[in-house]
Amino acid sequence: MSAFHIWTIGCQMNVADSRRLAESLQRYGLEAAEEPADADVVVLYSCVVRQQAEDRVHGQLHQLRQLKAERPQLKVVVAGCVSDIPDWRKRYPFVDLIAEPGQDLTVRERLIDLLDLSERYRFDPEQAVRIPGVSEGVTIHQGCNRACTYCIVPQTRGGERSRPPEVILDEVRRLTERGTREVVLLSQIVERYGRDLRPRVLLSELLHRLDSVAGLERIRFLTSYPGDFGNDLVEAIAELPKVCEDVNLPIQAGDDDVLRRMRRGYVVDHYRELIGRLRLRMPEIGLSTDIIVGFPGETETQFQHTLEMLDELRFDVVHVAMYSPRPGTVAATDMVDDVPREEKRRRLHAVEDLQKQIATRINDRYLGRTVEVLVEGTAKGRWYGRTRTNKLVHFASDQPLAGRVVEVTVSASEPWYLEGMFSDKPMLVVV
Ligand code: SAM
Repeated sequence: MSAFHIWTIGCQMNVADSRRLAESLQRYGLEAAEEPADADVVVLYSCVVRQQAEDRVHGQLHQLRQLKAERPQLKVVVAGCVSDIPDWRKRYPFVDLIAEPGQDLTVRERLIDLLDLSERYRFDPEQAVRIPGVSEGVTIHQGCNRACTYCIVPQTRGGERSRPPEVILDEVRRLTERGTREVVLLSQIVERYGRDLRPRVLLSELLHRLDSVAGLERIRFLTSYPGDFGNDLVEAIAELPKVCEDVNLPIQAGDDDVLRRMRRGYVVDHYRELIGRLRLRMPEIGLSTDIIVGFPGETETQFQHTLEMLDELRFDVVHVAMYSPRPGTVAATDMVDDVPREEKRRRLHAVEDLQKQIATRINDRYLGRTVEVLVEGTAKGRWYGRTRTNKLVHFASDQPLAGRVVEVTVSASEPWYLEGMFSDKPMLVVV
């Protein structure tokens, strides 16, 4: 057994979990293979949150069926989110392991058993050695105890579990030692972090501790749940120098009746008040949200309420998805998916069109301003990076700027990114 290939789709938590798994396997002496054909073990980090993602997982499994027929010694593992494990076992009997969803430590341990690695190397579970990366996701909390009627995550990722703050601090320190400048703290419902720990820890307390990590420049966290976003968190974002003014706060719909049937546990007014508090304290804060269009029973009037809400609250970014029934959820079982696909698509485009206008106006405000950009990479011969408010910025320079925080003056704005000129005065990163 010498090479592994990991294929990942879906949320940033899958990306972070697969990165940690890759690190562990490398510590056991396995090498990363570019292609499944060159691997002895293939791990799929699956996502079933939407039908499109699930279809791509099935596509991968069909290809692996062929590969396994040619090379029966190949090991195939499915991790991440899987909805109906008995059904998947029946459809894909060649899969060697469908790992318990959401428990990446279990995935790792079960893989070690499957590959019979335990005798060969000593494994220290929480002291991962990081692959250097300027911005890295760090899972801090798994699962979700809420019961939104459309969402499959509580089934696939199980109940809420927090990682102890010391373990997270250790991981972040190690990442920073290897060159990481920004960490994105990941959870499906990040404000719930620490409530299952004894003694209890608040996300704001974790942020305070992480803010003192030497060499770390920036901290972000996602995704939020509006019902649990307290003032302590608003203050932590405003006060802590490393915590970025950037919040992803999914509202899902702008109509109280739709929110009630989604069992979101808040009304639009509550959400509006929270946005008001955030903007009062941080007028420049970058805000994004998630919207589902075509939820069962969503009328045209209710959809118009969503457009009106978006026009009023003016987000920097809106992630919009057509409602996709997920087997086993309350919405799929007890409600009728009665908004036709074409109508869902029309509503999705209406949100996108409106958001394009809003984002254009917001980004125009950046013209001529000098912003602080963490340089994450290059694209088409230019550097790119992000502002603290999560605006993507492209600019040209022949200086070695990777991983540096630099000042860029914005010269052009587009709805989804900014263009700028490097001001030739790179800021020093204090390590
Ligand atoms: N913290 C988030 C929240 O408050 O809901 C949860 C993140 S959720 C796993 C990611 C996004 O996927 C959701 O915000 C929602 O917009 C979308 N999503 C989840 N289930 C969906 C479904 N059945 N159909 C369409 N979109 C869905």
